[in-house]
Amino acid sequence: MNVPFLDLKAHHDPRRAEIMAAIEAVVDANAFAGGSFVTRFEAAYAEFCGTRFCVGVANGTDALWFALLALNVGPGDEVITVPMTFMATAEAISYTGAKPVFVDIEPRTFTLDVSQLEAAITPRTKAIIPVHLFGHCADMDPLLAIAAKHGIPVVEDAAQAQGARYKGRPAGSLGRIGAFSFYPGKNLGAWGEAGGITTDDPDLRDRMAMFREHGQKKKYYHDVIGWNGRMDGIQAAVLSVKLKYLAEANARRRRVAARYDTLLAGIPGLTLPVPAPYAEPIYHIYAVRVAGRDALIPRLAARGISTGIHYPVPVHLQQAYAALGYHRGDFPVSEACADTFLSLPMYPELSDDQIEAVATALRAELG
Ligand SMILES: *Cc1c(COP(=O)(O)O)cnc(C)c1O
Repeated sequence: MNVPFLDLKAHHDPRRAEIMAAIEAVVDANAFAGGSFVTRFEAAYAEFCGTRFCVGVANGTDALWFALLALNVGPGDEVITVPMTFMATAEAISYTGAKPVFVDIEPRTFTLDVSQLEAAITPRTKAIIPVHLFGHCADMDPLLAIAAKHGIPVVEDAAQAQGARYKGRPAGSLGRIGAFSFYPGKNLGAWGEAGGITTDDPDLRDRMAMFREHGQKKKYYHDVIGWNGRMDGIQAAVLSVKLKYLAEANARRRRVAARYDTLLAGIPGLTLPVPAPYAEPIYHIYAVRVAGRDALIPRLAARGISTGIHYPVPVHLQQAYAALGYHRGDFPVSEACADTFLSLPMYPELSDDQIEAVATALRAELG
């Protein structure tokens, strides 16, 4: 049986007519860049996250960047994040002129190891960006307590966590600002590129909206040097439709994960993800850990099972960041995860037969 890693067509087909009609409404209104469809999505997404505001932007990288710019992060500053994340988290820091400073992840939740946070804080630290990797929240209460003690704002990288919860509170409402990606493959994905930034703070909301709009509050009057980071109307319309079904889709992902948990238990050499008691994860990725991963992937592919690696190289070891001077051994948990992570097929429409085929293939290869 063929099991794709992700099947967007299976996800979109049941809603295709409704989404196409929403797109036509944008065309009828000529509301292509920013505009009323974006405003409507912003209100709906803020409500979904339990925040006062959402600023719709062009992608998740811009969301992180504008969040940091709004907090006045710039050259000479440091921003703390984790090395086990998508490159964009660090890129957004670098594009403010600040320096990324890494704290390793902890091995159970794959999120920022709060016990190592305080040692990384210096007088230059201007923000902390925990990453809710794979849709599982970082341990926010102790993290926020340390941040508050030092007066440092927290920006959640919630790009993989649309609808995830921490002790019942939604991702994006936990820090000062939440940054989301709506890249097509994310749990809430556009039909193109999009992102969003959530906050309760009206001043931060205004500043982020200004940066996305060429630094202007009033058209052609530019207070600061900004950027073209608007969300486009068609993406907002698509997202507004898909948002209505997100909670259900996340619940289906959790069911898929529970099925994997049962079927994969006890396979030698396979370590399964174990959510923390505080978490309600949304399984953007279902990542197991396995030694010999690189040899296993083509053998699974030969059995029709597509897999992925998120991520094979931690950010501190990326060539692009060679100048930061980090070395292998600096963040051992992130490095061990990069060597052993294997992302299994995961999407809401994955069938029981497909889940069983994945488990059968893994058992045949490892058992
Ligand atoms: C996807 C992602 C981003 C970047 O989002 P884009 O919309 O692709 O720019 C940032 N951080 C993490 C953790 C992501 O997964």
